[in-house]
Amino acid sequence: MLLKKIGLIVAIAFVCTSALRAEDPRWLKGNIHTHSFWSDGNQFPEMIAQWYVDRGYQFLALSDHNILSKGDKWMPYATLAKRGGEDVVAKYIAAFGKDWVTTRGKPGTADYSVRLKTLEEFRSKVETTDKFLMIQSEEISDRSQGGPVHMNATNIQELIPPVGGATVREAMTNNLRAVAEQAKRTGKPIVLHLNHPNFGYAVTAEDIASVVMERYVEIYNGHPGVNVGGDDEHASMEEIWDIANTIRLVQLGAAPLFGVGTDDSHHYHGRGSSRPGRSWVMVRCDDLDADAVTTKIQEGDFYSSSGVTLRDVQYDAKKKTLTVGIKPQSGVTYKTLFIGTLKSVDLSAKPRLDKNGKPRRTTHIYSKDIGKVLGESEGVDATYEFTGDELYVRAVVTSSKAHSDPTLPNQAEQAWTQPVGWKN
Ligand SMILES: [Zn+2]
Ligand SMILES: [Zn+2]
Repeated sequence: MLLKKIGLIVAIAFVCTSALRAEDPRWLKGNIHTHSFWSDGNQFPEMIAQWYVDRGYQFLALSDHNILSKGDKWMPYATLAKRGGEDVVAKYIAAFGKDWVTTRGKPGTADYSVRLKTLEEFRSKVETTDKFLMIQSEEISDRSQGGPVHMNATNIQELIPPVGGATVREAMTNNLRAVAEQAKRTGKPIVLHLNHPNFGYAVTAEDIASVVMERYVEIYNGHPGVNVGGDDEHASMEEIWDIANTIRLVQLGAAPLFGVGTDDSHHYHGRGSSRPGRSWVMVRCDDLDADAVTTKIQEGDFYSSSGVTLRDVQYDAKKKTLTVGIKPQSGVTYKTLFIGTLKSVDLSAKPRLDKNGKPRRTTHIYSKDIGKVLGESEGVDATYEFTGDELYVRAVVTSSKAHSDPTLPNQAEQAWTQPVGWKN
């Protein structure tokens, strides 16, 4: 009886907390995939951070390839100018002052170089308590089976060199294990998400499904070279997400993946193709703190966006409803599609064949019933009522407003919520 009572009190407390949050959740806007001069980007790290500060983001993770913003790194002016333009250092000095910028050698000579600031050095220049936070990250940039296997480690504490593996799946697993070991040893949460599976069409839906330790995959990436939409011969990133989630739930009894939207920005001077500001995550979190934000991403308490802002998204496990509230912009209309797969799905698949009739290493062809539209709604509030036949359902909101810097044909602003309804 006592136990029952305690259970009831806990339940009431939980309901109250949920109700409070439902009224006024705090959503933190952040980009967790960014490149700087520390690897192959074309801007100084604090200039990039300032770009995001100026546009109202709350957090940023610089995720350079196989390097942390740590140690002594000097960049010759010629390299900086070749990537970022002749005025790249002048713009840096204009923004942060001559005293801040560390150079050596005489301007105009081959020795003229600039020292990159470490994250610990420049953090205080851009961070503001409860307004803007830098989260340490690394793009673990591995290769296997002739293609790139890139994974972003958000809130990483120490560098992890790519571990490698004989297959894509092994490489993913090995890097996930290395990150898990570090998280355990340091006591810090780390999110390791799989980047751009369609970059070089290197990672298939079947690969992603089978590595069940992985819980996050990019479903939109602002780099125009990573084949977000796939092509006639390859599934899109969003299709890969649904196929992998369906395989996991039907065949592996494993949890689905959460979908991540990122910039993967490299170019910051108004030219170049891989620009910032195209996609981000909105994390429901009261504290602007690296561990808290990372933990919320681990819990799937976030959505991804390329322009649409949600007031709230709630899955009510008791009523079996998924509700999305949109923060409207004036003169803009919204359509919400509820996308999912039914339990009755036929998971048989055919490999795609090359010219010689040999199966290619790419996502197979599946039934259109995977990731199909189960409901749709116009307006700023949309609710899906589960019938009990669904494996999972997620919402995609598409705006009537064109994306401000599209990478896909006729691209509109969108928001993607996480798959729900799969736990029970
Ligand atoms: Zn990458
Ligand atoms: Zn990248």
